[in-house]
Amino acid sequence: MRFPFALSAKIAGHIIKHKLRQTPKFAMVLQLEPLHTCNLTCTGCGRIREYSTSLKDMVPLEKCLAAAMECDAPMVSICGGEPLIYPKIEELIDGLLQQGRVLYVCTNGMFMRRKMKDYLAAIYSPEVEPKMKRLLDQKLISDKDAEAIRKSDEAARKKTVIRPSTWMYWNVHLDGLEFTHDLIVEREGVFKECVEAIKMAKILGYQVATNTTVYKEADMQEIEDMFKFLSSLDVDGHTISPGYDYDAAKKDMVKRLGKDPKEFFLTRDMTRKKFAKIMDWGKAFTIFGTPVYQEFLAGKRELTCTAWAIPTYNVKGWKAPCYLMTDGHYGGYQEMLTKVAWEKYGVVNGVARDSRCENCMVHCGYDPSGALGTNYQRGDNWKNFKYNFGAKPKPFPFSPELEKRVYNGVSIGKGHLAEAKAAINPAAGAKGAFSRNGDEPEPHVGSHCGTNETTERDELLAKIKDAKNIEARPE
Ligand code: SF4
Ligand code: SF4
Repeated sequence: MRFPFALSAKIAGHIIKHKLRQTPKFAMVLQLEPLHTCNLTCTGCGRIREYSTSLKDMVPLEKCLAAAMECDAPMVSICGGEPLIYPKIEELIDGLLQQGRVLYVCTNGMFMRRKMKDYLAAIYSPEVEPKMKRLLDQKLISDKDAEAIRKSDEAARKKTVIRPSTWMYWNVHLDGLEFTHDLIVEREGVFKECVEAIKMAKILGYQVATNTTVYKEADMQEIEDMFKFLSSLDVDGHTISPGYDYDAAKKDMVKRLGKDPKEFFLTRDMTRKKFAKIMDWGKAFTIFGTPVYQEFLAGKRELTCTAWAIPTYNVKGWKAPCYLMTDGHYGGYQEMLTKVAWEKYGVVNGVARDSRCENCMVHCGYDPSGALGTNYQRGDNWKNFKYNFGAKPKPFPFSPELEKRVYNGVSIGKGHLAEAKAAINPAAGAKGAFSRNGDEPEPHVGSHCGTNETTERDELLAKIKDAKNIEARPE
């Protein structure tokens, strides 16, 4: 099956239950942001402007668990910031699994292997040796790591750890192949680390998904190659969503860069062109999201925003109206449902009810619409059912040619700090190529979930394209 039966059945059961009860609005996915701190400084990361004053704040564990209970979404996406920095991340994952939720741990991948080594230390017995051998053979752990795991003490064994589960996915942020991804996250070697973490996770039996945001300048052939490569690694699913310049980003662009936002928008028409092949990808790869949402992205139908179905909870409370825009925070999910004038938001039949929604087609606004039948067309239910319960696409065959295309950055000596830095920002000198105003980038807050400021990224990707044209890089 495309997705584990228990998970698809749980989600379908949740929808059916609320349809029978005629609940007008209910949660499908909780976007839980326990903190906004991050170890990376990705270009244009969205949360920096909005939550810069609460960078060090965290949602206490009990409040996180209570938020999930309150909205009762069957799926929880733990995001941020980098959630693996959250001091009680293991307890949070454990608590949410005990509540019976499907979990997506959205991560930039940099701490995954550390967490999986903790898991190995907690469960070590000679029976684990065959897996340890595979990890050592593929250099996914070092000899020193293996020794430490074998000698794990009582404390390591008692530690709450993140264990493989059918109900949990690592959800790794990847916005392109090595060169592009490392540029966007502003650090060489991050793509490689993500791939190694994915390989280690698959050997240990974890489920792994990836999360990609498509920007105006994104090369869709590159995105397809990325899916082929990830499929060859047996990755279990992919979220892909169009980037979108939401209100705060637009204002910032005018103020800080003095540019006309219209020149840089990923408009609805552009999004549809970018996603022209999404339905083919849905057949070839395990793309998360209903086929109805895929049709919407490809421009084959309209949907109405159901942002209330993917609520966001963070240090300030329940964020309304959606993951992207903030018109207020509320103390409770039900309070937010009743107090927000939802009819003021979204795009209906091509007409924006709020000008800020005009170009938005993001999954956190429209993917649930496909599942909930808000713009129902005959056959939709069957289409969704067939997709979710149908056969899983076969892994794409691995080939050295594909791998060569994938590792097109620092692995072949073409890291962004070497030549791309000069091509992209000659004035940067020895400083970080993408730092603002020539300063070294500061750790900041952000999100892996497509809320980034797309203008900065689009500009960066355009420059990468130019750099590629100026100097053809060896295959
Ligand atoms: S369309 Fe929906 S998800 Fe998109 S910005 Fe508007 S309210 Fe948010
Ligand atoms: S997008 Fe933001 S939160 Fe995600 S890794 Fe980059 S800086 Fe961190």
